[in-house]
Amino acid sequence: MSKSVDSSSTSSVLRSSVESLVRPNILRMKAYASARSEFKGMASVYLDANENPFDTGFNRYPDPLQWHLKKEIAALKGIDAKRIFLGNGSDEAIDLLIRIFCEPRIDHILTMPPTYGMYQVSAAVSDVAVKEVPLTSDFQPDVEGVLAAADEHTKILFACSPNNPTGNCMQPDLLRKLLENFSGILVVDEAYVDFSEAESCTAWLDEFPRLVVLQTFSKAWGQAGIRLGMAFAGEEIIALFNKVKPPYNVNQLTQDAAVMSLENTEEKDDWVDTILAQRAQLKEELKGLSFVEKVYPSDANFLLVKVTDADDLYNFLVENEIIVRNRSRVHLCEGCLRFTIGTELENAILMGALVDYAAS
Ligand SMILES: *Cc1c(COP(=O)(O)O)cnc(C)c1O
Repeated sequence: MSKSVDSSSTSSVLRSSVESLVRPNILRMKAYASARSEFKGMASVYLDANENPFDTGFNRYPDPLQWHLKKEIAALKGIDAKRIFLGNGSDEAIDLLIRIFCEPRIDHILTMPPTYGMYQVSAAVSDVAVKEVPLTSDFQPDVEGVLAAADEHTKILFACSPNNPTGNCMQPDLLRKLLENFSGILVVDEAYVDFSEAESCTAWLDEFPRLVVLQTFSKAWGQAGIRLGMAFAGEEIIALFNKVKPPYNVNQLTQDAAVMSLENTEEKDDWVDTILAQRAQLKEELKGLSFVEKVYPSDANFLLVKVTDADDLYNFLVENEIIVRNRSRVHLCEGCLRFTIGTELENAILMGALVDYAAS
């Protein structure tokens, strides 16, 4: 395993195969063969799945591989449908990745806190340890630190960009250094990419078979309730996802709702424009408040804000029926609250309360 950012080590890392990282039991096992996966054509009489024959609109099992929906996503993103996995939220993809690659109590994942909490929770459920290499003070990956901490049991490195809760993008050159020198699976979680000017790392999928990019319908698309997450990766990793996933992990209602949502990309783009304009306005207004010490730059639909007494402000807002996220006990986010950008009215209500707090 290479431990330095040295281009001469790159070629050997690129050669390390996905297969060698997979848990042996996952390589050995045979996937469940559902009725719908054994017969793929069109027929007029379906008596293979013990379904109720009477048409309710939902009496049939859904397509286990969601091809119709994947083709729409493929067209929108310019990515081959065979390079897409869809899950019950991106949280399902995170959980499956850990179960595919990490042998409980032997392998571990690596995270770069402060970051999204689900990497750690999913690892804990699988009895997989978490190694942490904190972000630098400007919330960028500590590449040397990560490579020094990684060993042959470091199966997955999670990089969240734009990062939750700090809001910033990771520098593409640093992500590339990680990709070129870390020999495990690099997961780039792009849940907030639609709010950012940055290019998606999906552009690098051809080059790096050990790259997984996560996106979701939960944020910009306004579909958190349907639970639909996307993972983009090489066909080898997609095949592993499909092998271990529950056969019907994305239900028919969700597939239908997502197809409808994809017909409305203009509405999504309008929401994003409005949220970005509101983010800029709220940021300016926050900077004028006496108790606000810092508003961090954001590439996401939230602002991380450092204040003089985070717990006191949090409690004041709760008393005013305004719920924000208290991140003040998170390393590198000491004293910070995280404000999701709401509607113009919601942001005005928040600002009104903050002005009252300043005066109190
Ligand atoms: C909100 C969020 C997600 C979305 O998860 P879903 O399961 O798709 O709703 C993923 N990653 C990060 C970092 C998030 O903040």
